[in-house]
Amino acid sequence: TSPDLAADAQVRANDRAHVFHSWSAQALIDPLPVAGGEGATFWDYAGNSYLDFSSQLVNLNLGHQHPDLVEAIQRQAGDLATIQPAMANGTRGELARLIAEVAPEGFSKVFFTNGGADANENAVRMARLVTGKRKVLAMYRSYHGNTSTAITLTGDPRRWANEPADASVVHFFGPYAYRSAFHSASEEEETARALEHLEQTIILEGASTIGAIILETVVGTNGVLVPPPGYLPGVRALCDKYGIVYIADEVMVGFGRIGEWFAVDAFDVTPDLITFAKGVNSGYVPLGGVVISDAIASHFDTVTFPGGLTYSGHPLACAPGIATFEVFRRDGILERVRDLGERVVEPRLREMAEKHPSIGEIRGRGLFWAIELVRDRETREPLVPFNAAGPAAAPMAAFAAACKKAGLWPFTHFNRVHVAPPLVISEEDLVRGLDIIDAALSVADEAAAA
Ligand code: PLP
Repeated sequence: TSPDLAADAQVRANDRAHVFHSWSAQALIDPLPVAGGEGATFWDYAGNSYLDFSSQLVNLNLGHQHPDLVEAIQRQAGDLATIQPAMANGTRGELARLIAEVAPEGFSKVFFTNGGADANENAVRMARLVTGKRKVLAMYRSYHGNTSTAITLTGDPRRWANEPADASVVHFFGPYAYRSAFHSASEEEETARALEHLEQTIILEGASTIGAIILETVVGTNGVLVPPPGYLPGVRALCDKYGIVYIADEVMVGFGRIGEWFAVDAFDVTPDLITFAKGVNSGYVPLGGVVISDAIASHFDTVTFPGGLTYSGHPLACAPGIATFEVFRRDGILERVRDLGERVVEPRLREMAEKHPSIGEIRGRGLFWAIELVRDRETREPLVPFNAAGPAAAPMAAFAAACKKAGLWPFTHFNRVHVAPPLVISEEDLVRGLDIIDAALSVADEAAAA
């Protein structure tokens, strides 16, 4: 597309004068004015286009402007743009049916929300009501959303300025073999010790006080931490032993990111509640929800569920959700993600890890990977400190700038770069993006050597 500098200036001016942005000191940011997007690419008004290796906020699973999703929204807008949640609606009901169909055995019902945070909020509410117990255990190195309980559940610095919004939350360490909190020498040891730590936490906090344990099936923003074999089944066993509801947060990893409808399917575990958002309709219209096991759903057969939202199951949001199922099935998206992950991404990242001294570890699954950057492979000192900002974060900023200059929009967080492109990216673009990251890593190598 040709540059339109007048539009660029206008968009920038309105944004700077009137839009109050998330997670930011307003005077210290410079948001990129985006003119449009298609598939795995978006472009600005100045004539630059970017391959989107972050799928926006890891929500754009079917890419920008997918014709099937756009058409579904247009059709629904023509039919019935909105209807309140106490009424039955065909589009809402059909999406709930489709979600239940791919959920684990014994899950039939869906409570729709506006996004991921309120999905977690309502899952915790259900767990508390069903068990009569208030406390919730959540992991350090997690993100669960920005409403009051969800931000308290969050195990990263975004919680700090917001606590204590919900006093009944306790954090524990999950498995992370590369930076083991348990001095483990192997994945087996990490699983065993992480489970022992969780059980001790349950005992010391009092099983009689704990209603739920919430965890991301694969930890997303905080590191693409794939659970080692046996860990999630071990969490399930502890929940059964102590009468605790297991909530799987699949807001980021559900709907195809790791090549499964729900990521729990890859880890031989069945939770009690599954929360989702993002990939359910690629975020074209805000939508999230809780998939509810029959045991929990039946509790509310004759007892009122004390929760609701004006836009629960909004038809304009559910319509592209139905289209998402059609596209996934027609185009073999899950198989494609598994294939590209195993055949293209993993071998290429392994090759980069051989070549670049700044790579400490690579890990991931499907189209969801992390490259963890270090100053020193022996000590594993991170390339930038935990929660670094400003000058302390300069090496990561320089790496990201090198990617953008070469036409790739990266996802960086602390000392990591994540590889999370739209699931519809062409193999050619995927390889091109990995080439750009490979080249930009020389910037990280230099910073590590400095
Ligand atoms: N849970 C996880 C794992 C997430 O990654 C996110 C968002 O990034 C959320 C919850 C919150 O979702 P939302 O921003 O839609 O409220």
